[in-house]
Amino acid sequence: MEKTVHIAVVPSVGYSHLVPILQFSKQLVQLHPDIHVTCFIPTLGSPSNASKSVLETLPSNINYTFLPPVNPNDLPQGTPAESIHLTMIHSLPYLHQALNSLTLRTPLVALVVDPFAIKALDFAKEFNMLSYIYSPLSATTISFCFYMPKLDEETSCEYKDLPKPIKLPGCVPIHGRDLFTNVQDRSSQEYKQFLQLLKSLSIADGILVNSFLEMESGPIKALNEEGSVKGIPSVYPVGPIIQTVTSSVDANGLECLSWLDKQQSCSVLYVSFGSGGTLSQEQIVELAFGLELSNHKFLWVVRAPNSSANATYLSTQNDVDPLQFLPSGFLERTRGKGLVIPSWAPQIHILSHNSVGGFLTHCGWNSTLESVVHGVPLITWPLFAEQNMNAVLLSEGIKVGLRPRVNENDIVERVEVAKVIKCLMEGKEGEKLRNNMKELKEVASNAVKEDGSSTKTISQLALKWRNLV
Ligand code: UDP
Repeated sequence: MEKTVHIAVVPSVGYSHLVPILQFSKQLVQLHPDIHVTCFIPTLGSPSNASKSVLETLPSNINYTFLPPVNPNDLPQGTPAESIHLTMIHSLPYLHQALNSLTLRTPLVALVVDPFAIKALDFAKEFNMLSYIYSPLSATTISFCFYMPKLDEETSCEYKDLPKPIKLPGCVPIHGRDLFTNVQDRSSQEYKQFLQLLKSLSIADGILVNSFLEMESGPIKALNEEGSVKGIPSVYPVGPIIQTVTSSVDANGLECLSWLDKQQSCSVLYVSFGSGGTLSQEQIVELAFGLELSNHKFLWVVRAPNSSANATYLSTQNDVDPLQFLPSGFLERTRGKGLVIPSWAPQIHILSHNSVGGFLTHCGWNSTLESVVHGVPLITWPLFAEQNMNAVLLSEGIKVGLRPRVNENDIVERVEVAKVIKCLMEGKEGEKLRNNMKELKEVASNAVKEDGSSTKTISQLALKWRNLV
């Protein structure tokens, strides 16, 4: 009888740090049913409904346990990244206890963690497990993560003041101002904490990246070729791994899907800024007028404004009606032309709908891959974290997106909004991007077929783990 290969998985707090690692786990056990996964989930307050509905879809060979929740009031005021980090630190003793009790019953061969849960890898040696980071980020971003400590040593100014773009082996050149938002103030506590986190990435035995060779061959090959010399763990491209259209859809979601059913093929621009991205009041107004001016159909997931783009990242459920922040008369004037949904939409269902012809996105890596898998070209509108780097990769590297110009106050004005929408939805340039995205969709689908590059990489890992049992 085949022996069970048991691994443990640790996500971190936030929808987009839980769901990707669960999706990876699902893909793994589907391809290799002799593997069993136990997922230990750190929590801050209570998990969102969206996260809970994904947990309900797990197969029987993936177990999950919530670690005792951290009370948000016990954490100091800080950025979402700091709260995620601190939640992990608070959860470590419980995780240790949980691993201890599980390993008494069954040997674990590997520990796979989200980058923000890297502290958990300290336990891998103690429990005799191989250690991996599952990165829900691009390979280009991972390259920068490994390069950042060197960049820190070599640079005396703020990165945004560097005169030339930074060139890393195999990567599209990226200007300093487009690096992670958390490295833009080098005197901040957040910067120091982040740098510390990046320095510890090398302790892992491997980095699993939700990307694929055909999309990011440059950084993936460079990381693996030069990595061994520079002490970078092996990089395993296992993507694209995205959500499937299995989760349930609420009443708002059903309304928008039936609206899409009535629209022409490829005619609708989907507008969304991820699980928690927000715009300022001024930017909401400019975007609204821009959508109106473009005269194209749109489906817009609207959130209440905030001066900080990631303010609601860990708390999307709030009671304020976001529609009240739209310009007066907007809903009436765009009736029939556009549909506005408050706060949350069934994105994966939307992107797979035939009526959607473009996606104005904040360039979160999950949204990016979901668009690639469904072949939807992009307007790249990054807000925070590594999203600027993704925007550069998509618009200047792979050329599947258009990046609007921001004014001196960091606002995309209405005329610019209308211009990029028209360009994407009806212009020659848009056609080129659409074709590039179609080609990328094709290779993305090949990467996860039975003999595809990413499927083979997952099998290579499974074999390695199986040999340890
Ligand atoms: N998402 C969704 N509905 C929404 C907003 C987001 O289903 O209204 C999902 C989206 O499909 C993706 C994830 O939330 O899987 C967002 O992840 P991403 O990495 O794009 O952005 P983040 O939330 O980390 O900023």
